[in-house]
Amino acid sequence: GMPAAPPPVLSPRRKTRQIRVGSVGVGSDSPVSVQSMTTTPTTDINSTLQQIAELNAAGCDIVRVACPSQDDAEALPIIAMKSPIPVIADIHFQPKYVFAAIDAGCAGVRVNPGNIRKFDDQVGAIAKAAQDAGVSIRIGVNAGSLDKRLMEKYGKATPEALAESARWEASLFEEHDFHDFKISVKHNDPVTMVRAYQLLAESGDWPLHLGVTEAGPAFQGTIKSATAFGALLSQGIGDTIRVSLSAPPVEEVKVGSQILQSLGLRPKKLEIVSCPSCGRAQVDVYKLADDVTEGLKDLTVPLRVAVMGCVVNGPGEAREADLGVASGNGKGQIFVKGEVIRTVPEDQIVETLITEANRIAEDMDVA
Ligand code: SF4
Repeated sequence: GMPAAPPPVLSPRRKTRQIRVGSVGVGSDSPVSVQSMTTTPTTDINSTLQQIAELNAAGCDIVRVACPSQDDAEALPIIAMKSPIPVIADIHFQPKYVFAAIDAGCAGVRVNPGNIRKFDDQVGAIAKAAQDAGVSIRIGVNAGSLDKRLMEKYGKATPEALAESARWEASLFEEHDFHDFKISVKHNDPVTMVRAYQLLAESGDWPLHLGVTEAGPAFQGTIKSATAFGALLSQGIGDTIRVSLSAPPVEEVKVGSQILQSLGLRPKKLEIVSCPSCGRAQVDVYKLADDVTEGLKDLTVPLRVAVMGCVVNGPGEAREADLGVASGNGKGQIFVKGEVIRTVPEDQIVETLITEANRIAEDMDVA
């Protein structure tokens, strides 16, 4: 008979309640979504919409915009109306902007109760307005703005402190019979962050928004986010993710999307299988891999492209891929589905791969 299926690498998704952020479901019945946040002034409506379009094209499912002032609040209705993806307004200090964002037609509102004075008094009104408008909320607990009481109790933003803060804030909404919210407990240290989310996952069925906050510049932030999200997602924890980088938000979306693709949680698109190069390489593999990646970045179909520096592993890997090249002697053997279709001079490798990739993509689209 058939061999038994191998054990799954990822634990099953933790069962959560289901919420909606506009057209995007968040919770265990929905695929894990990718979020980012615009960096343009929200008052600059055209630039903000332009950036949202770029984020959408890169694979962003939900976008957040900052709303620190009345002028920003006044820009929200047009942004919410014209954005191709659901818009969440990010509110820190002033509850009045929560109501403005709901009135503006935003799909969601992020609140940071630690930064809203007298938050407890406002919860009932916020819950009612959100409920009436069908708007969901994110309770965003942040290590940097933890409630004073909890800082006194724990001394610093420990995982226990973050989780306790989140549970307390969740209970405020639940007392008002409001349940359409997700929670984040962000910290800049992946270990603290992972533990905080684990604690939270054990104590309720809230959908969870994963984030390592202030993760740093692109390289460090990418690694921190990938390791932390990988650890949590492998345990079935996490329903939507935001990678924070000190880099343009499109990079955040690319990293988030790649994390989900790497874990098999999002369909793969272009996958470059390139060798690390070694003393046998007869071609500049780094440059070749970069040029091929750049040349194929707009492909929308899943395609595995092998870029190999020599003929040792080259043909083998190239055969496993949809398309590939194995280089040697100033030439490149171009493989399509395992067959050498032609051999071209080194300076024609990239253009040949791009032509063949587009041909394969067209066939896929037709099929
Ligand atoms: Fe080295 Fe060739 Fe392997 Fe690339 S494919 S790492 S060049 S042996």
